[in-house]
Amino acid sequence: PDDGDDLDTLLKHAALAMYDAKRQGRNMFEFFHPAMNARMLDLLLLENQLRQALRRDEFELFYQPQMDLATGRIVAFEALVRWRHPERGLVSPVDFIPLTEETGLILPLGRWVLQEACRQAALWRSSQWPAIRIAVNLSAVQFRQADLVDQVRRALASAGVTPDALELEVTESVVMQDAEATIQTLQQLRMMGVTLAIDDFGTGYSSLAYLKRFPVNTLKVDRSFVQDIEDDPDAAAICAAVIGLAHNLRLDVVAGGVETAEQLAWLHAAGCRTGQGFLLGRPLPATAY
Ligand code: C2E
Ligand code: MG
Repeated sequence: PDDGDDLDTLLKHAALAMYDAKRQGRNMFEFFHPAMNARMLDLLLLENQLRQALRRDEFELFYQPQMDLATGRIVAFEALVRWRHPERGLVSPVDFIPLTEETGLILPLGRWVLQEACRQAALWRSSQWPAIRIAVNLSAVQFRQADLVDQVRRALASAGVTPDALELEVTESVVMQDAEATIQTLQQLRMMGVTLAIDDFGTGYSSLAYLKRFPVNTLKVDRSFVQDIEDDPDAAAICAAVIGLAHNLRLDVVAGGVETAEQLAWLHAAGCRTGQGFLLGRPLPATAY
């Protein structure tokens, strides 16, 4: 009752508090605070700027290599979106992807990412990397779109590249939610010939029964486990278990966030064949390769 003198104000402030709770990961409560008004304005401003950014082509893809740990050869690149903001410079996806998901802007942005990644794959395949694959992150909203499969097919066709040039990364929490529908979508993509990876594996709740039924090719071990391999026996045990699980299910494993030579050596010894991380290469614009 202290948060507004009339119905409109009370409702608006309640909505702001709810928005804040959602932003912090949902499943919690939050009281209104005057600072939320300012933050809301910031968010509205950011949303407008994001719409403009789409029209003005301010997004770029950076590419981070995935390496074969035995040969040191690059086998794939993960495409990671960046926003080249006219004043703020390069903005990290961590700072704008959540808002694009909330506002639906992820749909046009995601379409652009898909098209751009396919275009780059075609370019690299016709020059220095004839068998390269580019991995694209799909957010939950994109993955649940009815025309996702068509979108992927069109992006590949218009770039003139075969489906094996594309890998789609979906997070564990997304695939495990509504698993029956997920299986259908994954099957259609698999049948097309696209490679599928589960991102952040080990951080959410996985049903092993579903994992067995998902037609995926690759598990990406989350960076948080790799980071602690040397100091935390439990993290090391989880990495070893995921590598074993993947191999027994005849899946590939990619270790994310490899930063030190010790981590690399450990992973290699544990039977992990592919790695990605700052030690092996940071995300860079395509022109840097
Ligand atoms: P992700 O898919 O888990 O991508 C890996 C993130 O880890 C990237 O952050 C990458 O720069 C970072 N990383 C890679 N190696 C290392 C390392 O050795 N150490 C550390 N500390 N970090 C490392 P980035 O580029 O900021 O992307 C963050 C997240 O944003 C991605 O996490 C992904 O979930 C999302 N994202 C990026 N691009 C897209 C996109 O095009 N579409 C969607 N839907 N999400 C995207
Ligand atoms: Mg990823």
